[in-house]
Parts: sequence; C-alpha cells; structure tokens
Amino acid sequence: MTQAQKDFIAKVGAFAAADMAKSGILASLKTAQAILESGWGTSALATQANALFGIKADSRWSGRVYSTKTKECYNGVNFTTVDALFRAYDSWEHSLSNHSAFLIAGARYAAVIGERDYKKACAAIHKAGYATDPGYTDKLIKLIEQYRLMDFDTVSEQSLFGRKEQNMNIIQDIIPKGRRNRPGRANPMKFVTIHNTGNTSKGAGARNHANYVKGDSAANLPVSWHYTIDDKEIYQHIPDNEDAFHAGDGGGNGNRQSIGLEICMNSDGDLLKATDLAAQLTASLCRKHNIPIENVVQHQHWSGKNCPQLIRSGRPYDWNTFIGKVRAFMGTGTVAPVPTPATPTMPSMPTAASSTSFKVGDIVQFTGGGVYFSSTAATPAHSRGRSRCKVTQIASGRKQPFHLVSEDSGRVHGWVAAGDVTAIGSGSTPVTPATPPKPALLPLDVIAREVINGRWGNGQDRVNRLTAAGYDAKAVQARVNQLLK
Ligand SMILES: [Zn+2]
Repeated sequence: MTQAQKDFIAKVGAFAAADMAKSGILASLKTAQAILESGWGTSALATQANALFGIKADSRWSGRVYSTKTKECYNGVNFTTVDALFRAYDSWEHSLSNHSAFLIAGARYAAVIGERDYKKACAAIHKAGYATDPGYTDKLIKLIEQYRLMDFDTVSEQSLFGRKEQNMNIIQDIIPKGRRNRPGRANPMKFVTIHNTGNTSKGAGARNHANYVKGDSAANLPVSWHYTIDDKEIYQHIPDNEDAFHAGDGGGNGNRQSIGLEICMNSDGDLLKATDLAAQLTASLCRKHNIPIENVVQHQHWSGKNCPQLIRSGRPYDWNTFIGKVRAFMGTGTVAPVPTPATPTMPSMPTAASSTSFKVGDIVQFTGGGVYFSSTAATPAHSRGRSRCKVTQIASGRKQPFHLVSEDSGRVHGWVAAGDVTAIGSGSTPVTPATPPKPALLPLDVIAREVINGRWGNGQDRVNRLTAAGYDAKAVQARVNQLLK
C-alpha cells in the first residue's frame, strides 16, 4: 500500500464511519466504493469537483455541477464529444454524505440501509443496480478484506451501540483558587485544544499530572490545562468556563477561549484507550458547550508547537481519524446530555406515547411505519415493518423523537415517530427505569429525586459522580434544594 492510499483510507474511512452513525450505511462499503469509483481519489471528478462518486446531476440536484467532455469512439472511425453533468461538492466529506442521501432517497437501495454484514451489503447494492459490472460485489469485498475496511464499521458500530464508550470517570481535582496557574478569567469555551503530554515516563498518567499541575513549579511557570486523560481515568484541573495556560499563545484565543485536553503517553499505558477516551470526552464537551467540530484543534494550531506529537505522527492514529471518532461519538446521543429547553416548542406527542418513556439503550418494539433520516424530516426515507430495536438516540419534543436500530433482521435504522414505538411485550405500558438507571438522559427532576433518595452519595463524591455522568451538579443541587423546601 502506498502512503497516498494509506492517507486516502484514513481520511475517507473516518468520514464514512461518522456518516454511518447517521445513515446506517456501512463505512466499509462506502470506502470501498469510493476507492473503486475515484481511483483512490485521483479521478478528475475527485480532484476537480471533490466528487468521489460519479452521481449524475439530474433534476433532483440543485447544487454545483461538473461537466466532463469526453471523446468517445463508437464506430471505430469517428469520435463524438459526449457531455455529462455530475454533482460537484465543496469537500470529499460532502460527497460522502450526499452519496448516503442519494442511496437513502432511492427506494431500490432499501436493503443496503442498516445492513450490518459487509458481504450482504455489497451484494445488496450490486443487486439493486448500482453497477452493471458482474464482478462488482467481489471487487468491493476484496477491497474491504485486503485493506481491513471493516475496521471502520467497528469504530462506528461500537460508538453507535455504546460498547466502545468507556466509563467516563472524571475526577475533579481542581487547582485551588488564587494559584498563579488558575487565572480565573471567563472562558467563552469556543474551542477544544488537543495535546499529548510529551511525558513517556512510567506512571505518568492522569493522576500524576493532576499532582504536578497543583504543585509550585506548574503554578510558577505558570502552566495549566483543563483535563488530563489516560487509559483509565480523566482528571479535571480547571473548570470548563475558566481560562488556562496551555496553548502557548499568551493572551490569545488558545489560552483564553479553549478547553485544553492533555492525552497521556506514559510508556506503561494503553495509548489507544487513552486517545479514544479523549475523543469521547471531546465529543461530550462539544455537545455540552455547543462547540462546532471545526473548532476542535491541535495545540499546534495556536503556537506552531509539534503537539499533540503522537497524533501528529499517526499514533495510535492520525488527526483525521481522531476527528472521525469525535464525530462518531457526537452522533450517538449517549455521550452527554444536550441541554434541553425548559418548555418544548413542538406539539405534544401522541397520547399512546406520552405515557411511555424510553431511554437510550432500551430495547423496544417498533410497530411498523416510516423511518426518517432526521428527527425533524417531513417525509420518511423508507417504510419498515415490525422490528425489535434498540433506542440509540433521543430528541425530546421532536417530530420523530426516537432513533432506532434493529436488533433483529428488520433493518430499521433511523428516526421514528413516538406513536410507532411501544415497550416490548406490553404495548403502551410505561417502561420502569432499570436499576441502576442510565443517567445520561434523565430529566432534572428525576435525578434530583434520586439524589434525595441517596442514590448518588454525598458531598464531593456526589458532585464527582454527577459530573462524570454528564450532569450539571450545581443545577441538580439547586433543584434538590427547591424540592426540599
Ligand atoms: Zn501541547
């Protein structure tokens, strides 16, 4: 494999994995198709129109177009100039997501959407008429197996189904107020800055760095950052909404407007786990503070320093892959709660569902009906029959509030109306929260009652546990105080 091919797979695979979390189309299939159709990104369409797939710009397309004039010889004597118009894009990422939209819009590709077996998916897209080459299925499968493209399915699958998500054990060990490296200015939280610690010593994990950053030498420099992540745990040293000294840009936006994450690289740690955990934390912070993924940057962005030095050299994977993982984690709804407005602006849900509450991870019965591309889409992408599904995301108050993925062969993968979802086995009987509850999506009142009932412990331990589970501990405490009045 050449370096260019390696780069192509890393870039396209990461985008395809992120897309998979939304579209249900296997990242391996999409990456293999992109390789075949664009000649590893070298085709004129790919280089001049950012189009990895040759999708014709017909009446359904209102975006930019790319015209290819090709000379074709049909009779062995005369050359004819043929004009063809193709969809053109701003980026490969855009091309990849539009390819999904194209497949989802075409009813004949329904068997591809949500298919989790790459061999079946390759055969299904071929059978649906995507390509006429009789060897198309085999070519795709060969590419997937030769370059292990199925690994990208695992990245997305695992984050999608919560298996990859590690327990975000965030230990708050905040630098005391008044120390020189805790300046305490308001941080508007517009960026996330990624670092590697640069410390390969044995034992140089999150806890060691927490001790260091509280010590005199860090205070005197001054140096500080918000979180240190190793393969097991996360230490927080500075509150998100305060500034720190990590970006090397003085009073610039790196220090003043970003949240700094240090990924450990101690030789006795698991770098892959630590980096994955950092991607998960980054996704959680982006969601919590509405930080766009474009504003997740390297330390290098601010000061030119070669940091994060390991990611920049492809260890355990490169920057595009890191961002792809952040996207995949953001696409899951189980990372951290999105702040929900106090009063829903949408009309209330159908009565059958209003008495039924589900949470991410629940296994439910989809009773059949439309499956939508988004929680707000007006028209369904396809119609699916009865299927046993897992709830993978929730968008409260939306037209289609539940994102479901089939656990059986029903191929549901998308957003559905509340009226089409019931508890397994019992129609509209409310689901009683399992014990212990999945805390990420519980309403404030429920969590406050749990606190009152002692389920979350006391004092700093309670604050830590609530924070680790993604709650605003202060807001919970305020509600507890109200309820106890
Ligand atoms: Zn750095």
